[in-house]
Amino acid sequence: MLYLRINKRDAEEKRKYLLDRKLLHPEFSIFSDENFVYFPVKFKFDNSNDFVDIDGKIRIRKKKPYDEIIENVKIDNDLKKFIPNHWEKYGNVVLIQLPEVLYNYRLEIGATFAKVLRAKSVLLYKGIEGEFRRPRVEFIYGDDALTIHIENGIYYKFDASRIMFSSGNVDERIRMSKMDATGEKIVDMFAGIGYFSIPLAKYSYPARLIAIEKNEESYNFLIENIKLNNVSIDPMLSDNRDVELKDYADRVIMGYVHSREFIPYAIKMLKHKGIIHYHDTWRKEEVWNREEVIKNLFGDLQYYVMRFHIVKNYAPNIMHVNIDLRIRKV
Ligand code: SAM
Repeated sequence: MLYLRINKRDAEEKRKYLLDRKLLHPEFSIFSDENFVYFPVKFKFDNSNDFVDIDGKIRIRKKKPYDEIIENVKIDNDLKKFIPNHWEKYGNVVLIQLPEVLYNYRLEIGATFAKVLRAKSVLLYKGIEGEFRRPRVEFIYGDDALTIHIENGIYYKFDASRIMFSSGNVDERIRMSKMDATGEKIVDMFAGIGYFSIPLAKYSYPARLIAIEKNEESYNFLIENIKLNNVSIDPMLSDNRDVELKDYADRVIMGYVHSREFIPYAIKMLKHKGIIHYHDTWRKEEVWNREEVIKNLFGDLQYYVMRFHIVKNYAPNIMHVNIDLRIRKV
């Protein structure tokens, strides 16, 4: 069987790459040893030396979890087609969304997901709300959502019933870890549990990183995650608008989907020149007229757009955009 052998640090990114291109062999398991993750692939798709042919003993033909769920769940056959083929798993906690028609069967469905996916709790996800981006959930199996999710060699500890984790932002978190920020002073204005701060601190060599978070619950996990990952970060429990940092940072991270009104505060924190990673939610028309919108937002400064990127669809007609700008204050 043909496997792609990838360094653990790059494994998450490669997994996404393989999934996106449908290159993973569906009938064989991914496995790992101390240093590498081995992905079963359908064929040799490039000339790298990372392909290895491994025979016999680790060939585990397995049933897809979704098929197992459908097979095991005790509800009417007619209803099974409504069971979602998609869920989020963070450590040993699973989040799913269910259509209305399955609501009365949620406990049976929760128990089946828990059994097949080996989860200690299953949460019915109903959206996200408020300034702290708190998830609205209902336990449909178990009663404890404290978990440790491992991504890109990083441990994220959090309570999934109280704090969000966006699987859709995985590329951004990985991108942060690949940034060369050697010797820089960085401010993460919306640090949460350390989504961006920890990859930056762990892999990008900043001189100092200040991580600001307003929600005390997230802040406490941020502190735990700093210790868990053994990184050097200065956490700050505060509204970033109240932080007295002026002309301080080489780089400011604005990892919040409504960060438009925070631009003046980011500029204040930035040195005479530096980089801003700006996230926001834009209407489609704004995306089409991006140059004009960016000019309206940053026109008082000298700026250069290093990268414009659509992270994901956020809501109907609304997109999560990320813009990296090199700024010079004039
Ligand atoms: N970028 C993250 C990712 O990779 O998934 C998601 C965004 S994170 C949930 C945004 C964080 O900003 C939340 O933890 C929220 O409590 C925090 N926050 C919101 N307003 C804030 C403010 N004014 N000052 C500091 N933190 C704030």
